[in-house]
Amino acid sequence: MKLDQTYENCRSCTACPLHKTKTNTVFGTGNENADLMFIGEAPGEKEDESGIPFVGPAGKLFDKYLEYVGIERDEVYIANILKCRPPRNRDPLPDEENACIGYLREQVRLIKPKIIVCLGRVAAKRLISPDFRITAQHGKWFDNKGFKICAVYHPSALLRDTAKKADMLTDMKNIKDVYTSLK
Ligand code: SF4
Repeated sequence: MKLDQTYENCRSCTACPLHKTKTNTVFGTGNENADLMFIGEAPGEKEDESGIPFVGPAGKLFDKYLEYVGIERDEVYIANILKCRPPRNRDPLPDEENACIGYLREQVRLIKPKIIVCLGRVAAKRLISPDFRITAQHGKWFDNKGFKICAVYHPSALLRDTAKKADMLTDMKNIKDVYTSLK
């Protein structure tokens, strides 16, 4: 109920200029009681068209990793830091992140996940540490106010550089192990 309210507030949000160019608000999807939450940076073209996060080519690759390690997409919750698409998929600007982060905080507060996994550098810098280095620190766990948090490569980075796929598989297997141990 409260998540629905947050969604409605988000849909009518004009707090940053991205509301002018979006097609749909991409709020989040999945199990509202999830123990495991994945957080990316912002919607891309397919997400903007559909209103659902991680449904484009990168999302389809991410689905394969979930399937491979035995995690159902609908048992987790998936969201982004920004709820509206930045033009040409550029990185979120600090002012846009600052304007939007309250919706994500509210999602985390209501869903209460035990584990948060940042998908990519932008989410990790915002949610773990501003000086987070994804190549050196992917897969490393941190404790944060009642939940465990780590970061993995963004699936779109794996499409650009297939050499990263082995590390992604190792990280996703480890996430599954930690997730199973906390159930
Ligand atoms: Fe509002 Fe976030 Fe969309 Fe900006 S990106 S208009 S802060 S919902």
